Amino acid sequence: MDEFTLTIIGSGSALPMHGRHPSAQVIQYDDLCCLIDCGEGTQERLRPAGVRPFQIDIILISHLHGDHIFGLPGLLSSYTHLGRTEPLSIFGPVGLKGFLESIIGYTEMTVSFPLSIIEESPVGLNRIVVRENIEIWTFPLYHRIACNGYVFRELSSNIRLNKDRLHEYGLTPVQIKAVKRGEEIEHSRGRIPSSVFILQPLPPVSYAYCSDTRFDQCLLTVIQGVSVLYHETTFMNELEEMADHTGHSTAGQAGMMAAEAGVSCLITGHYSSRYKDVQPLIEEAGVNFRHVIESEEGKKYNLRNLAKGLTH
Ligand SMILES: [Zn+2]
Ligand SMILES: [Zn+2]
Repeated sequence: MDEFTLTIIGSGSALPMHGRHPSAQVIQYDDLCCLIDCGEGTQERLRPAGVRPFQIDIILISHLHGDHIFGLPGLLSSYTHLGRTEPLSIFGPVGLKGFLESIIGYTEMTVSFPLSIIEESPVGLNRIVVRENIEIWTFPLYHRIACNGYVFRELSSNIRLNKDRLHEYGLTPVQIKAVKRGEEIEHSRGRIPSSVFILQPLPPVSYAYCSDTRFDQCLLTVIQGVSVLYHETTFMNELEEMADHTGHSTAGQAGMMAAEAGVSCLITGHYSSRYKDVQPLIEEAGVNFRHVIESEEGKKYNLRNLAKGLTH
């Protein structure tokens, strides 16, 4: 239950260029495997990045611009060709259902698995997924069309089992359940308190996804204090007017947002194809905030490490 990772699949904006691809990323936590956005070609880049496509059980779509959704019909079609039977839930703004149903209809796509399409129009923060020790919330971003951001919040009651001890004492599944309930264990070595098998709890970690969006200080109420913030950095500050006009943010603005929200780490992304080298964007975000990370496609980031100030 220690794993809480982010894998970047696509870090670019509208045009695939300079080896970068449209938006997609994967959050993994225990048995939760969640794809956020699904730009063109996402399915081909999952396996090389170490993500098995069938693992994905939740897809979160930010909005219906093509660079966030054109990979989705292909992924769903492949699932059917490969005989997927596990259920899949897709969340996104209003319009998602019509988009998918019309493609499924016109292309005569059969869907071999239970598919739920859930449209959300959040006003503030709406909780959409509750798992054993993690919750996913959605909130509105400030783009050109309806666009939803997402926050993953680990709950603080996380119990971490000491696997070496469990092995050493050879506990049965029934005994492990008792440990999780905090009960004493009857063992050939005597009665053993559950604390023997439990590690110190880790501080809970949270992650927010903000793309695509203008610089919007209203977001602060939602993302204040999250551990790791992914905030789009489509343009440099010199194109601030264009950023505002097109519903995007500059790298400098993303750095300011990270500083004001008091996060531990800012991950940049959704880089415009006009920038071959994204280093200037990273540096500009770094003027206002100290711990800035470049989105590297195919790379898996340990969110607990990023929250501690490390870089991977
Ligand atoms: Zn976009
Ligand atoms: Zn967009």
